[in-house]
Amino acid sequence: MTELNSHIKKRIVMLGGGMSGVGAAMLATQRGHDVFLSDGGFLKDAFAKALQDQHIPHETGGHDMEQILNADLVVKSPGIPDNASIVQKILEAGIPVISEIEFASRFTDEIEVAITGSNGKTTVTTLIGHVLQIADLDVTIGGNIGKSYAAQVAEGPAKYRVLEVSSFQLDGITTFKPHIAVLLNITPDHLDRYAYKFENYVASKMRIAMNQDEHDFLIYNADDPAIEKALTLFKPKSKLVPFSMEKQLKYGAYIQDNQININLDSNLLTMPIQNLSIKGKHNTANAMAAATTAKLLQIRKETIRQSLASFQGVEHRLEQVLKINKVQYINDSKATNVNATYYALDSMEKPTVWIVGGVDKGNNYSDLYALVNKNVKAIVCLGVDNAKIVEAFSGCVEQMVETSSMEDAVRVAYKLAGPGDNVLLSPACASFDLFENYEDRGRQFKNAVRAL
Ligand code: ADP
Repeated sequence: MTELNSHIKKRIVMLGGGMSGVGAAMLATQRGHDVFLSDGGFLKDAFAKALQDQHIPHETGGHDMEQILNADLVVKSPGIPDNASIVQKILEAGIPVISEIEFASRFTDEIEVAITGSNGKTTVTTLIGHVLQIADLDVTIGGNIGKSYAAQVAEGPAKYRVLEVSSFQLDGITTFKPHIAVLLNITPDHLDRYAYKFENYVASKMRIAMNQDEHDFLIYNADDPAIEKALTLFKPKSKLVPFSMEKQLKYGAYIQDNQININLDSNLLTMPIQNLSIKGKHNTANAMAAATTAKLLQIRKETIRQSLASFQGVEHRLEQVLKINKVQYINDSKATNVNATYYALDSMEKPTVWIVGGVDKGNNYSDLYALVNKNVKAIVCLGVDNAKIVEAFSGCVEQMVETSSMEDAVRVAYKLAGPGDNVLLSPACASFDLFENYEDRGRQFKNAVRAL
């Protein structure tokens, strides 16, 4: 809580009119501040309407610097990089620039659980939210997914706030201090925003713990060398709670005899991996992180077990679509990087026809070779430019077919797959060559499968 909650009116400018900017504008308006939203492009209809309905002054298609440089505070959308000239001008004028997560958190003293990582944020955020809901706690779930944090704070109080936070949002925090922070993994991603230095990206992720103190908890992946190294470098003050798939830990979460063990006090929580509703090694790790959070929040063991067994997963993440002629079709469209696809391939227990491709973000596919040799029987390339994938995998599989539409890709996969096989869409690439976004890609996949 800060001076923003006092009765002193401030001028607050939102830079960017997406989910976070509009949410922040609504919260600031509700709390009596003088608000202006500026977007260099265009607003989605729903956001434009929300601003109009609430009479919030705004502009699109450019930035009127006079309106911006008289701000006391600027809330920047995560999509705008720090080195954008407009941001530089604002900073040069001495105006603080923060992210929407930081902004919203300044209005509340509620218990914040924040989840970050390169992969698995949405899955773990949704799963923690699910456990807290089953435990009948007063909770909202959002941040980088669903509703923005600011919009949720504007809607009313809640005891618990479960928040997915991205590195871009963490770059814009100054006081944000989650009671429980969850750090899932750090693998190279978004390096274009971090001067192509992995250590800068790691430092950004570690900010999740920078304001924590000894009464707070940092749940982290003890199998991740980047995290282990960063912990010695940044030395968070919070209580460290590790989870591991590989090591038997005295304190934290680990695997023994195919069971998850959560050992935080003398009261051990165990659950067979096979009872988890979401499958694959990475999802076992995700479940451990979520169960550890729930245990720290004193949720009953039976409730935690029940919720981990009943969680439906999140659309486009290893989503089981249909079984046709004994072939299981799986939609993992959200796998937009090699690491996510690695875990998808790793979790395939049947011979798999793999649909891969899209916009390559500088991928290095060599990490996938062993898994492709083991689990993949044929590859269907799906992209405008498949050259890199063809080159990377032509030695690994007998059959490889190039396609340039989802319908084609699914039809080809259907022909290549036999009874007992999987067809997996896990592109390892961004979707913008042929699709609007990964959701559109996943939906087109499901429609094509249903039309077979
Ligand atoms: P994020 O919100 O961080 O992008 P998601 O939960 O949406 O994460 O999952 C993104 C992709 O990563 C999906 O393909 C999913 O199957 C995969 N994934 C989920 N959890 C993990 C994990 N712990 N490690 C690696 N990949 C994961």
